[in-house]
Amino acid sequence: MNQHLARIICAIILVITSYQSVQAAANNFTAQQIRTGDNLLGILKRHGFSTREREQVLGSDVGLRRLFLTLDTRYLVRRSSGETELRVFDSQTSDAFRIIKRGKTIQAFKYDPKYKITSMRIDGKVHGSVLGSILPKINSNWVATRFMDAYVFDVKSFRSLRRGAPFWFTVEKKYEEGQFVKYGEILQTSLEIDGEVVRKKFMRSKDGGVFFNDQDLLEKRVFFSPVNYIKIASKFQPNRLHPITRRRVPHLGVDFELPIGDPVLAAKKGVVVRYGNNRAAGNYIVLRHPNGVESSYNHLYKIDRRIREGLAVNTGDKIAEVGCTGYCTRAHLHFALKIKGRMVDPLKYIKPYPQNMHSMLASQVARN
Ligand SMILES: [Zn+2]
Repeated sequence: MNQHLARIICAIILVITSYQSVQAAANNFTAQQIRTGDNLLGILKRHGFSTREREQVLGSDVGLRRLFLTLDTRYLVRRSSGETELRVFDSQTSDAFRIIKRGKTIQAFKYDPKYKITSMRIDGKVHGSVLGSILPKINSNWVATRFMDAYVFDVKSFRSLRRGAPFWFTVEKKYEEGQFVKYGEILQTSLEIDGEVVRKKFMRSKDGGVFFNDQDLLEKRVFFSPVNYIKIASKFQPNRLHPITRRRVPHLGVDFELPIGDPVLAAKKGVVVRYGNNRAAGNYIVLRHPNGVESSYNHLYKIDRRIREGLAVNTGDKIAEVGCTGYCTRAHLHFALKIKGRMVDPLKYIKPYPQNMHSMLASQVARN
């Protein structure tokens, strides 16, 4: 091929590619599905980020290294001439990030999406497990487990629900740049338990929120929730398989799943009997309450500076922050209750809300 012809061909190719770039620039974000086994590295690789660029992105913000993605979340991609932008949304927390590649320059930072939120209603009947009854209608483990969270104080075992028990709920759908990216909270729920329809409403607080109905305020339970946001990762199971060692190890407390740094509250007025660090519990605190009751809080990130043996704390005082120290795969609070030397199921003894929400919920009930 002579040089002249080669130059003409090159010019034509240039015209075609730049035309395509102009076309792409006119396009907005497209939403992309998270694939099984995906993580941020895989997504960046798929969109042309080199090894060095991927490392640069991960080094830009700790939240990006901790990013947790599930199949019900989408991410956004926009490509224009010489620029690629990704927007990624943590499936578990409200964290969102913009990742921009412009030529050789990489920028990655946290941002506040201005979500457009709609709500959607799902109706169904329980056949088999609750999870198995919800997932065919809305393919999101998050949504299905949030529904179960709403009833965790009311239903002893979800397996005991009557076959065909009707349920419904409304759930938030979050849109960014006109695209659906993730589900939000379940807002209202209804479930038939032992022939009775039990409804719940998600009540937001300044730093959390709980599922609630008027009956919950009449609960005689003397302890309060030790966290502002109740998301159950693992229940009290005297005979369970340990997630790490795969051996049968009883789980003698309840695990509340929360981001690192969220406050841990004293479930009731008491005195610090022990605190410190050990291999399994990580950083922990044990409080003693009247009548031979002890509450314990494990896997803490930070123990409050005031904590000393013998220190008296009030119900709802912040005593520590949620972490993942000791035997732990994901940030959570392991909360346990011991009554007269025996470990009991904490969910049978705590109210379904923290102490600081009591007056807000009481005024809500008064209005109804
Ligand atoms: Zn636990």
